[in-house]
Amino acid sequence: MVEAAIQQTLKEKLKEIFGFDAFRGEQEVIINNIVSGNNTFVIMPTGAGKSLCYQLPAMVLEGTAIVISPLIALMKNQVDQMTAFGINAQFLNSTLNKSEMTRVKNDVLSGECRLLYIAPESLTKEDNLIFLKKAKLSFIAVDEAHCISEWGHDFRPEYRRIRGIIDDIDPKLPIIALTATATPKVQQDIQKNLNMEESYIFKSSFNRKNLYYEIRPKIDSKKQLIRYIANNKGKSGIIYCLSRKKVEEIASLLTVNGIKALPYHAGLDADTRMKNQDAFLNEESDVIVATIAFGMGIDKPDVRFVIHYDAPKSLEGYYQETGRAGRDGLEGNCLMFYAYDDILKLEKFNKDKTVTERDNARALLMEMVAYSNLGVCRRRQLLSYFGEYSDKDCGFCDNCIKPTKKIKIEDEAVLGLKAIFQAGERFDIQHIADILTANTSNAYIRSHEHDKLEVYGKGKNMFVINNDEDDDDEEDEEEIELEISDDDDDEEETVKPVAAKSAKPVKKAEKTSKKNDNKKTS
Ligand code: ADP
Ligand code: ZN
Repeated sequence: MVEAAIQQTLKEKLKEIFGFDAFRGEQEVIINNIVSGNNTFVIMPTGAGKSLCYQLPAMVLEGTAIVISPLIALMKNQVDQMTAFGINAQFLNSTLNKSEMTRVKNDVLSGECRLLYIAPESLTKEDNLIFLKKAKLSFIAVDEAHCISEWGHDFRPEYRRIRGIIDDIDPKLPIIALTATATPKVQQDIQKNLNMEESYIFKSSFNRKNLYYEIRPKIDSKKQLIRYIANNKGKSGIIYCLSRKKVEEIASLLTVNGIKALPYHAGLDADTRMKNQDAFLNEESDVIVATIAFGMGIDKPDVRFVIHYDAPKSLEGYYQETGRAGRDGLEGNCLMFYAYDDILKLEKFNKDKTVTERDNARALLMEMVAYSNLGVCRRRQLLSYFGEYSDKDCGFCDNCIKPTKKIKIEDEAVLGLKAIFQAGERFDIQHIADILTANTSNAYIRSHEHDKLEVYGKGKNMFVINNDEDDDDEEDEEEIELEISDDDDDEEETVKPVAAKSAKPVKKAEKTSKKNDNKKTS
């Protein structure tokens, strides 16, 4: 139990430093738990107010609190914020020169510094370790703790070394781990790796009641996009695309259509990125068109819509990205354009991975497919993915508001199964569709003599292939941004592009022909 006097101090500091009148949700119990020196695991959605859970204890406990954070941009944001509050907070990373580094270390050793933000890579450096052993520390906060787990959406191998380093500094230091990733698998991974199986867990609901979830088929998506934004004129929004090229293309498209939009991706130089991000935060630009490189740690409360122009690679990522809408609790619209083609594209990028990695990535993708295709309440699906079950529909998603018409597809289903069976149960869905629709541009059909199968061409009048007419053919050569990394030697966070050069020429021919089939004037 925390003494009444400390509790009083905490309340006063909450108001005095942060300007908040009351704690939110479970913040107070969590903070008390940390102040009492207990290991604490906090699982709360983005925007719930996790940062305060370590920032406030750092104000009242003796010594410096260490905050392990994955991105330099994130650290900088928080340090700027704390400094504005008049708090001595610093970061230790490779962007500092020698004299700055010395100043930071002196501030910590003298006990002036309340919060020291540090990247896991810097933590492992020998001289930093020696310095940390000399310092008086209050506790360790592991922010974005899901980076520990391969099942999380931003796996960072260095995160797995944190426990060992803490043991080296002082095994008794209390740890607070924080994440917005709540899948039971990730949670267990984190606990195990940080040796926190016995810690207190605070998990709050992941339901974002003010977010409206909607998925539309990716047909005429550019026109739909422009119309959608025109209907939300002047509102702040984020549009996520898979590749840098698409980001540029959509940003120009919007600009040409009189919408104030700017691009953001890791291919831009650091200055431009910073400038565009600031323009978005300061409302000089309404829309930011971005790859996944954008968003972590961005605290813009009044983002009114998040659009996924392309499908994300996991439900987890989707939840995080849509979570940037309506952080102030007001209107937040989450729209995604979905085409199975996007899933195939994403799958291609897993080719060079190990078998296990590929299986993991595939499982995540398939969950995304199920979410996009099913006609049941989106929120119920999302929440059950995070281990929260409800027997009621939400009434505030596209499937609840406009229930999908139920159609009988018995014949189609039987035909599909027959095709799978007759082709020997070893071809992907596209190939099966090509058999059923007698797609002559798929050269594999002839080479495997699938044109001789009984089902060949039997589905010609049954299936509609939804292809985005706006799409172009060069997609395979694009640099798709799938992983964010933050090299300690880099000034800014960088993104490792996973190049895809192995697309089958057959696919291309087939794609072009489909497109020609579908050509309409647009
Ligand atoms: P998270 O890290 O969980 O995504 P943040 O710590 O960035 O969330 O907090 C989200 C927003 O909520 C911030 O703007 C923060 O200032 C605000 N906030 C946090 N705690 C409180 C509180 N007790 N009262 C009011 N606003 C709060
Ligand atoms: Zn619903």
